[in-house]
Amino acid sequence: MIKPKIIVHGGAWDIPAHMHKMHTDGIEKALRKGIEILQKTNDPIETVIGIVCALEDDPTFDAGKGSFLNEAGQVEMDAGIMHGKDLSVGAVAAIQNIRNPIIIANLVREKTQHVMLTGDGALMFAKEQGVQPVDTIELLVGREKELYHDLLKEKDVKIKSFFEMKHPSDTVGAVVINSHGNIAAATSTGGTPFKKAGRVGDSPIVGAGFYADDTCAGVSTTGWGEGILRTLLAREAADQVLNGTSAHDAAKKSIAIMKKKVNGDAGLIIIDKTGDYAFDHNTPFMAVGAATIDGIDFVKISSR
Ligand code: ASP
Repeated sequence: MIKPKIIVHGGAWDIPAHMHKMHTDGIEKALRKGIEILQKTNDPIETVIGIVCALEDDPTFDAGKGSFLNEAGQVEMDAGIMHGKDLSVGAVAAIQNIRNPIIIANLVREKTQHVMLTGDGALMFAKEQGVQPVDTIELLVGREKELYHDLLKEKDVKIKSFFEMKHPSDTVGAVVINSHGNIAAATSTGGTPFKKAGRVGDSPIVGAGFYADDTCAGVSTTGWGEGILRTLLAREAADQVLNGTSAHDAAKKSIAIMKKKVNGDAGLIIIDKTGDYAFDHNTPFMAVGAATIDGIDFVKISSR
């Protein structure tokens, strides 16, 4: 038997001091929700969904309510979820008008023969499943509208610089292992500010934004999506564990590999098959928290 564990992140970037408490409060609330679900169900999928929904509902984070606007002024969101027991995956990309994209991603996993649905097709599927769409206005917060209008004035928006500097990137993710050693991982995001309409990042792509395999590890990533995609960061970390590396070293090594290969800026959380958890990031800060079934281990803004 394994001691059930939870690890959660709320983005990796230069989180300004005045936003630290909002991030730690949001993560703590989500962790408490996760502990409650895990105690009741011992189900890692239900637990990651509960955690990610709590973070999507919290306007602090760039996922669900609080998502960034794209270049066209729309909210297009990406989310993905994986069960390490059977390697089942569900994802949605560039979905609009949905409060909790992670729920639709999981419905794709459970109810379709597919791994990913995008855009209008994903929204159509959500409606078929009885999920009520919401007006974009319900997903918008003033902070993101202001950022959008500021970016509209800039001539040459360099998205990668957001992760090194001032601009927010609060993608959310969770990894959970239950007492049987079943692992689930989930990631949800509004993507990057001012992305092109239709841009899909790393978060809904299996092996990049998330990965779970009970024989090695579960991983969720956050940061500059194009760099994470090109190095398949989540799968890289899981492969490290498969090759006998500890969760701690796998996190460190894969962030270092990504930095070296594509000069990426990102963070990741990981739980290996023994229940050891770890995280690492090369951004100035990362919002992260972890718990066992008995209570919270830590919630913090980790600094590089
Ligand atoms: N990785 C996300 C993306 O590029 C952004 C983030 O993690 O904040 O869409």
